[in-house]
Amino acid sequence: MTIERIELRLIAMPLVAPFETSFGIETVEEHIIVRVDGDGITGWGECVASEGPWYSYETNQTAWHVLRDFLIPLVLENELRAPQDFPGLAARVRGHNMAKAGLEAALWDWFAKAQNKSLAEMFNAAQQVDATYVLPQEITVGVSVGLQATPAALVEQVRGFLSEGYTRIKIKIKPQRDVALVRALRAEFPTIRLQVDANSAYTLADADIFRAMDDANLLLIEQPLSNDDIFQHIKLQRELKTAICLDESIHSAEDAEAALELGACRIINIKPGRVGGFTQAIKIHDLAAKHNAPVWCGGMLESGIGRAGNVAIASLPNFTLPGDLSASRRYYQTDIVEPEFQVNAQGKMRVPTGAGIGVEVVQKNLDDVTISTRMFRKK
Ligand SMILES: [Mg+2]
Repeated sequence: MTIERIELRLIAMPLVAPFETSFGIETVEEHIIVRVDGDGITGWGECVASEGPWYSYETNQTAWHVLRDFLIPLVLENELRAPQDFPGLAARVRGHNMAKAGLEAALWDWFAKAQNKSLAEMFNAAQQVDATYVLPQEITVGVSVGLQATPAALVEQVRGFLSEGYTRIKIKIKPQRDVALVRALRAEFPTIRLQVDANSAYTLADADIFRAMDDANLLLIEQPLSNDDIFQHIKLQRELKTAICLDESIHSAEDAEAALELGACRIINIKPGRVGGFTQAIKIHDLAAKHNAPVWCGGMLESGIGRAGNVAIASLPNFTLPGDLSASRRYYQTDIVEPEFQVNAQGKMRVPTGAGIGVEVVQKNLDDVTISTRMFRKK
């Protein structure tokens, strides 16, 4: 079992509609696709860094540099026995979790295909929460709605998503565009599963804003305060009935343990890209289960390649809250995989059962969105 070639591609996929968060407005999503080849098997992964250092310090340029100069040589110069060997090998590179996760994902796909197992089977075999757990055929998914121009526009957007089948709605908030949005939605849809995501746009001085939504029966308030903070979130969580969920602050199982034990949050959003890959994501999943804290899978506007991995990880037993795992069409006119991911009328998505990511990469569609390519070979 040897990896002989690794290919990087920078891709740019136009979004069907602009997506606004507290960071800004996106109209095109640029990601890096990682392809590994060896023994006649191809593995695919997606690095979820973006053009600018807004969600995290990583960008496509930093990820490309770290993959090209450090991570890819490590994989080509060493023999891996399993995808779980990669984090130890890559540990000498500090940080750069999205770069690591993109390559690790391609390795998971490659090893899964070599064993003719789906990613979901591989992940479920690795989790230590419940050995008797039966892998679900489908999972409940939610949709993340960007900031809209007015509360009325948001209500109409949400009405559309509910009619498509989604049963959990997450809205983005930012200062001046928060409590009024929650109230408008609750007035129209008093009982839907609703949560908000601030992407670190507030400080403790804004605690009154969160108190004002504490009776809105939200599932959770996601990452209200600073992106690396645990301490201030402890203070805010003490003030609120509603559970705080951390996203940006959690980069490892150690961060998750600190946050849960210290009471900075009661729920964790797991994004494999943010934590350095699926191996670490499974560790956080297991750790949160020990603390009776639910987890759910966040999204980074992935193409079908990254989405496939997210759907697989969200099939683990402690992913008890619906993830941001929308249909391909919610973001993209044309996906780069077949079949595209779809949501049924009950707000559920099928977990692929084929080997590896369980979907086929459509080479023409991938070529159509590729900006640049670079190939690396084993010496
Ligand atoms: Mg978030």
